[in-house]
Amino acid sequence: MGQPLTVAGRFPAISHAVRQWLELGVDPELSGSARRCQFITNATPALVLLMVMFYFPIFLGMGNWTLAMSCVWQAPIPLIGIAWFRWRQRCGKSPHYWKACVICQATTLVGITGGQGTLLGTHFYFLLFFLTAPLIVPVSDQRGMAITCIVCLAWFTLLHYFPWPAAPQVQALPPLILKALNLTVLLSGSAILFVALLGSELFSDVLENRIQQMAATDLLTGLGNRRRFYSALAQLQARFEREQRPFCLAMLDLDFFKRINDSRGHDVGDEVLRHVSALLRDNVRAEDQVCRIGGEEFAILFADTTAAQAFAACEAIRQAIAHSPANAEGQAVSVTASLGVAAWGASHNAQSFLAAADRALYSAKRAGRNRVKRHKESETSLGTA
Ligand code: GH3
Ligand code: MG
Ligand code: MG
Repeated sequence: MGQPLTVAGRFPAISHAVRQWLELGVDPELSGSARRCQFITNATPALVLLMVMFYFPIFLGMGNWTLAMSCVWQAPIPLIGIAWFRWRQRCGKSPHYWKACVICQATTLVGITGGQGTLLGTHFYFLLFFLTAPLIVPVSDQRGMAITCIVCLAWFTLLHYFPWPAAPQVQALPPLILKALNLTVLLSGSAILFVALLGSELFSDVLENRIQQMAATDLLTGLGNRRRFYSALAQLQARFEREQRPFCLAMLDLDFFKRINDSRGHDVGDEVLRHVSALLRDNVRAEDQVCRIGGEEFAILFADTTAAQAFAACEAIRQAIAHSPANAEGQAVSVTASLGVAAWGASHNAQSFLAAADRALYSAKRAGRNRVKRHKESETSLGTA
């Protein structure tokens, strides 16, 4: 028997199921904003059904059968909508906003003509549909946007100037109850608008973070790329200027890497790069930053670290690489690395800092490879050794 589901265990399962349902039929190749429109389109019939189910117990509690029955007439529309959407998406068709618009508008019209009339202010939902149109209609579809907005505004204006009479049992409601129902319509509409805008903002935020993450990540190794490196360097630099906290840079270059590619193939070379990247990640602290800044060249920024400490950390990294061959296509592939370390000083800028670490790296290469060298001049300016 499986483990009983705890509340904490259930939540991910529910959120996964909701996600799967929202993503049904959504083309992952679409832009973020177009995908957001399709998610909301997918959710629309269920949201409309929720709205109907919200009013049903209120009307029932009031003992007003006409109003309760208007909900009963409304409910099949979003229910059919849910089944319709699922069927279309099973057939491989993507969600399309005008179907969601039809479901929203038809449900509202059935409520109005089914007894509510315009007395409760239900026609204000057409204004809500107009305001939320940019959330479901892709911005690129200007014609669709114009038609959707015009239809929503036309319904609202028409029903505002030519009110639809409510059923006698509704007209007989005391003015105070009618005022409360009017307020409920306005508040629930505003709440939906608020939640829709909040959801859209959260979605954009998640999307932007994902794009930023992708833009700063190296595809092969998952390490930071040159962009992440420069942004981490700028942060350390700013902190140094504020608080004089020392930091160091190590440039690492694999030795004779071309030979691995030439003798064992590019795929094995790639596997070695992934293996070294994992070793580097495991051998630095969370506050340090490892980036792949070239083919087989890596940069490591050691935060709050003196040159002597960085040298010791680099020595440990060098040994870890030399003593852990990569396992590529069933073969053990040994590789070594040379490293050059420089400490940041007030006289440095990004370019001279990189050049200092590079000079130390090339002196390690010249000295026979598989070793770590320090750039001594960069250390004397601050006495960080
Ligand atoms: P040295 O010890 O002097 O650094 O020798 P080396 O052979 O490592 O130096 P060199 O710069 O001549 O070779 C680097 C090689 O890295 C050349 C290129 O084919 C390889 N390389 C660059 N990017 C990638 C990559 O993404 N995957 C693979 N497999 N190889 C790459
Ligand atoms: Mg190189
Ligand atoms: Mg090399």
